[in-house]
Amino acid sequence: MFGVINKSLNHSSVDGPGNRLVIFFQGCNFSCSYCHNPETIKVCNNCGICIAHCSSNALSMKDKKIVWNQNLCVDCGKCILVCPNSSSPKTQLLSVSDIIQQIEKVQHFISGITISGGECTQQYYFLKELLIACKQQNISAFIDTNAHLEFEKMKELSQYFDKAMPDVKIYSNHQHRQLTGKANELVFQNIEFLLQAHKVHEIRSVIYPEFDYTETIEKVSQLIASYDHRVIYKLIKFRPHGLNNKKSPSDEIMLFLKTRAEHFGCSNIIIS
Ligand code: SF4
Ligand code: SF4
Repeated sequence: MFGVINKSLNHSSVDGPGNRLVIFFQGCNFSCSYCHNPETIKVCNNCGICIAHCSSNALSMKDKKIVWNQNLCVDCGKCILVCPNSSSPKTQLLSVSDIIQQIEKVQHFISGITISGGECTQQYYFLKELLIACKQQNISAFIDTNAHLEFEKMKELSQYFDKAMPDVKIYSNHQHRQLTGKANELVFQNIEFLLQAHKVHEIRSVIYPEFDYTETIEKVSQLIASYDHRVIYKLIKFRPHGLNNKKSPSDEIMLFLKTRAEHFGCSNIIIS
């Protein structure tokens, strides 16, 4: 079995506790209005459109499959800009043992790994195999997830990861559909289960200027306070990155939301 991997970072200090190796899986079932990595949403369909746009000749077609030559790539990003499919030709098919070997090279310098995306649970069976392998090797494994996975599958998976870092995009179901294209009942069912099982390290909400997050902050803080007060609530300021004409929320709004979270019983809040 192979996983479709967008990229990996040998060291990150913002993807869970300590210094972690992060693996970004390709593919996501949400299409968030503010997604900063839209090229991770879909798996490449090998249409070949991007080949002609690569002036470094790093892309070619072999057996009807796109081939990316990492040595020739200068990371100009043109292939991603022209892709009509929210994808990237710069993905790799890796086996669990390929990834374990990669981890072993840096194992003495990291606290563990974080599996992110895209949305890592979209490659459920590969993810499960990788988590089981990490457990066997005593490697701490966290998952960064939108928590929109069938409940039974999330229960099963939770036996194999150490902690999850689920996103709460927004509490209102209607606004969640507007923002991501999907409803959020499953997200809350999974998060409540994971909190009860003490399997959550932090919950993350991106604060996007289009919406009022007061209700979201209240509900998430109440959940954290009632199940596991050690859980971090990370409030992430939306940053435009030239994607659209939206502005970041002000520092005043971020501080107001932090105060609301404290008011509803959450004591471990990070603004980033
Ligand atoms: S990012 Fe790499 S593969 Fe893509 S167009 Fe630029 S050089 Fe070519
Ligand atoms: S990355 Fe996009 S443009 Fe390039 S082959 Fe894949 S789907 Fe087509």
